[in-house]
Amino acid sequence: MAGLYIHVPFCKKRCLYCDFYSNTDITIKGAYVRALVREMELRKVYLKEEVLETIYIGGGTPSLLSPSELSVIFDAIHRHFRLADNMEITLEANPDDINKEYIHALCSLGINRLSMGVQSFDEEDLLFLNRRHTRTQAIQAVRRCQESYLYNINIDLIYGLPGQTVEKWENNLAEAIRLDIPHLSAYHLIYEEGTPLYRLMEAGRVMPVSEETSLLLFRTLIDTLTTEGYEHYEISNFARQGHYARHNSAYWQGGHYLGLGPAAHSYNGVEREWNASSLSAWEEGIRADKLAIEQEPLDMNTRYNDYIVTRLRTKWGVRLPEITSFFGEERTAYCLRMAQKYLAQGKLILRSGDTLVLSREGIFVSDGIMSDLLFV
Ligand code: SF4
Repeated sequence: MAGLYIHVPFCKKRCLYCDFYSNTDITIKGAYVRALVREMELRKVYLKEEVLETIYIGGGTPSLLSPSELSVIFDAIHRHFRLADNMEITLEANPDDINKEYIHALCSLGINRLSMGVQSFDEEDLLFLNRRHTRTQAIQAVRRCQESYLYNINIDLIYGLPGQTVEKWENNLAEAIRLDIPHLSAYHLIYEEGTPLYRLMEAGRVMPVSEETSLLLFRTLIDTLTTEGYEHYEISNFARQGHYARHNSAYWQGGHYLGLGPAAHSYNGVEREWNASSLSAWEEGIRADKLAIEQEPLDMNTRYNDYIVTRLRTKWGVRLPEITSFFGEERTAYCLRMAQKYLAQGKLILRSGDTLVLSREGIFVSDGIMSDLLFV
C-alpha cells in the first residue's frame, strides 16, 4: 500500500512566514496541470504497482485549481494507478475558496477530506500573518463543508505569534472545538530564513515569544484538546476517534509514497527523491523527458535514523523488534542504551516491554530525545 502526494505550487499571495515553494502567477495553472499529467505517466513506475491507499493534494493552495483542472488530474490518476477501496483523498484549501458548489465538485471527484489553512480565528493574527481570509470566512468554510456532509476536516493552526497570550490561544482553540472539527494540526510559528517574517525579526520589528511562553502555549494546546476528547497521536496532531490523518500516519510509519509537482518528495524504502523547487526547471525536465530530480540512496544508518525520527513522534512509538529485524541487533542495543537516561527520568516509557514511546513530559523535549537516539 502506498500514497500519492501532489504539490500544487500556486498561491494568490504569500504569507508572512511561509518558505514553501509556490508561485503567485496563477495564469500558468493550465500548463502546470498538463505537465503534472505527463509526470504521472513518466513516474508511476516508482511505486512498482503498489496499490494507492491515500492521495494528498497539498501546496501551495490546491483550492486554486478549478473543478475541471482537478478532474483532468483525477482522470490521469485513475488511468495510471491501482486504487484501493475506501481511500483517503485529501485536498488542502484556503477558507475563502470554499463555497458549496466547489465542495460538491470536490466530493464528486472522490475527495473525502479537506485540510484548511485556517492558522487563526483571530482577525489581528490573520492580518499580521498576511493570510488572505478573515475569521468569518474560516468559520463559514467549516460550516459549509459540514452542511454538505463533508465532515472529515482538518484545520491547521499556528501558535507562538509575537505577543500571543495564553488567553488568546485558548480562544482560538475554543473556536475550533465549538466548530466540532475532528482533526487539528497545530504548529509553532517558525522564523524561517529568507521569509519576510525573518527580515522583520532581524530588523527588530517583531520579537519571538520566549521559550517559557512557547512551552506554556504548547501545554495549553495539549491540555485543552485532550480534555475535549481529542487524541494527541503525533507531536503536532490531534484527532477525534477514527479521524487520524491516514496519509501522514502512513508517512510516519515508513509507508512508500510518490510525490509529483515541483518540490515534491518521494520515498520507496531504499531511496529518497525530490523534484526541483522551481516550476520552470520541473516543467522543462518533463518536456525534455529528463526529469529534474535529485536522489539520495539511504544507507542502513540513515534508514535507522529516519525510523527513530518518524516513529517516536507518534503514539505508536519505536518498536524494538522492528529495529532488530530492519536494522540488526547492534542498533537495537544502541537505541536502548541511549534511551536509558530518558527512561530513568520518565520522559520515555517502555510500553509492553518492547516499544519506546514519549511520555507526556518527554513530548516537551522530544527533539533532544530523538537526536540522542540517532546513530552517528
Ligand atoms: S497559502 Fe500556504 S503555501 Fe501559500 S504562502 Fe500561505 S502558507 Fe505558504
